[in-house]
Amino acid sequence: MIQDCIFCKIIQKQLPAKIIAENDEVIVIQDIAPKAPIHYLIIPKKHIQDVQSIEQEDKGLVGSLFLMAKELSGKIAGSGSFRLIVNNGADAGQSVFHVHSHFLSGKKMLDF
Ligand code: AMP
Repeated sequence: MIQDCIFCKIIQKQLPAKIIAENDEVIVIQDIAPKAPIHYLIIPKKHIQDVQSIEQEDKGLVGSLFLMAKELSGKIAGSGSFRLIVNNGADAGQSVFHVHSHFLSGKKMLDF
């Protein structure tokens, strides 16, 4: 847990969030400013700043993130299509420096 990290605080239940799913390794919350009808954040419980900070020992955690995306896809209505996005670094739009994946669905996203 990192003191000033909002996602660590959410994981510790020190900050409120709408929790969609949770297991030992990841938590899924509703994004506070959704960009699609379904906009979840899949967040590893271990504090890792960004993709470049991922170590070999985190391989399983990265797999858990994708497996959670698969699990979520089984619960969404419609085509089951979704987009996973990871912003890495401020210039790429990362604003919370605790690695996470956006899970977006519920509308056509054919633009890039
Ligand atoms: P990123 O900009 O890729 O780092 O994504 C961070 C995301 O976290 C943004 O989409 C924010 O809307 C979202 N966010 C920030 N604070 C909260 C919060 N307290 N609860 C839920 N989502 C949040």
